[in-house]
Amino acid sequence: MSLSDWDSQKWLNKIVHAAKKAYESIEGIIGTPLARQRIRKNQLGDTTLCIDKTAEDVILREMGKINQNIKVITEETGEFFTQQETEEFSDYLVIDPIDGSHNASFGFPMACISIAHAKGPHLDDVDAGVIMNIFSKDIFTAIKGKGAFRNGFPIHVNTRKVLPKCLFGMNLSVDETLADFVNRYAKFFDKCKPMRIRGIGTDGFALTLVGSGQLDLFLNLQNKTRTLDIAAAALILKEAGGILIDPYGNVLNSLLALTTRISFIGISPTLKKQLDPLIPILAECYKNQPSIL
Ligand SMILES: [Mg+2]
Repeated sequence: MSLSDWDSQKWLNKIVHAAKKAYESIEGIIGTPLARQRIRKNQLGDTTLCIDKTAEDVILREMGKINQNIKVITEETGEFFTQQETEEFSDYLVIDPIDGSHNASFGFPMACISIAHAKGPHLDDVDAGVIMNIFSKDIFTAIKGKGAFRNGFPIHVNTRKVLPKCLFGMNLSVDETLADFVNRYAKFFDKCKPMRIRGIGTDGFALTLVGSGQLDLFLNLQNKTRTLDIAAAALILKEAGGILIDPYGNVLNSLLALTTRISFIGISPTLKKQLDPLIPILAECYKNQPSIL
């Protein structure tokens, strides 16, 4: 089995094409009862909705046309090789067919198709990524070392410096009571006030918003998000000048695997300097965060 000699641009072209095809397949059901129809439980026990499966089927069909042996890591079907299982391979495709499925199924306008290509097993190995907003049809792309773009135009993180004046995005889909969650992080929130928080139920799209300067920072503190949810968006964020860290302030470079669960913060370098003195407080709060696993 020969290893791929495709460059990152060629992979990006393929995954952008697949994202557009997936969008065409779901365009008519976004926000309808059909989109919300439960199909099955996926390998991780999460419910697969009709809109997830419809988009994934199309992406996998498009990937199947590529005459390369690819390791696919995808939300609904799991991990597999497109040709044959082998130790020698160079290409990973990491797919979240719909990130923000519930938003999409209800027609709440925040959800995206996410596809990443990687040359190795970690987040930092992602070399091409696409996020397609299924409501606005905006297409965000990045190639490692070549910047990030929205519909072909460069995007950059904000340069705002004052944390309390910033727009925070958070994933508030907590498994505990919201009061318990807020109380756990009260000391940290207190240092950021008066903060403006937006709850965003799509992690990949939220990181893309940080990359495009539409959010100043995004925090996911629940230790239950899969790396596949943010594989494409992490590259877009970094290529837009942003930083991806964990709640302890360490640069995040997690394994691209179905079972990996993470917490993360997407932020600009200027704002990260403001956050740094608060990291010990955040880390102390986070230590008590229950794991769902
Ligand atoms: Mg999904």
